[in-house]
Amino acid sequence: MARYTGASCKLCRREGTKLYLKGERCLSDKCAINRRTSAPGQHGAAKKKMTEYGMQLREKQKAKRYYGVLEKQFKSYYTKADNQEGIAGENLLRLLERRLDNVVYRMGLAASHKEARQLVLHGHFTLNGHKANIPSILVKPGDVVAVKETESTKIKGLVEAMGEKIAPKWLEIDKNAGSAKVIAMPERDDIDFEFNEQLIIELYSK
Ligand code: SF4
Repeated sequence: MARYTGASCKLCRREGTKLYLKGERCLSDKCAINRRTSAPGQHGAAKKKMTEYGMQLREKQKAKRYYGVLEKQFKSYYTKADNQEGIAGENLLRLLERRLDNVVYRMGLAASHKEARQLVLHGHFTLNGHKANIPSILVKPGDVVAVKETESTKIKGLVEAMGEKIAPKWLEIDKNAGSAKVIAMPERDDIDFEFNEQLIIELYSK
């Protein structure tokens, strides 16, 4: 399965914002964005006026990187979002939020989307009682994501810490069961990360 293997902090510096790709480190003084805000590379510090296309591209890259999705799959989310009823940009973010790895992240079981993806790939979760090890599975209202009963001490420790992070209102967390029930579709204001999704839609609809 393809994934980005380069330096995570460079991605944040390129987008000029924290993408929270490294868990605890992102909240500490060691965060590269706190120390150096310029883009990576020889000319990273040069001030350039951004074109309209540049702004659209950066917004798309920011969303892709935040959710840990590669270009081909991201484009397929756009196509799906554009074919759905409603506002395409909100549909797009809703699709990204409904990914199984994002649900694990929102449950507070992983410090980053990358870690959540790893946990899913290693088969630590069930979806409606069945093994679920594909990070891109899309959950829907009524679905229950749970930590497998036979889990290791590491995962049990994570479940203990569940709930310390505030889960979005579309998830009903059951800390005792180590599970989350999807009780609604995610809404735009449930997403606590700043995106201008309209710019992404404009980019793809050219
Ligand atoms: Fe981004 Fe986290 Fe690195 Fe900071 S520590 S630059 S938020 S990946």
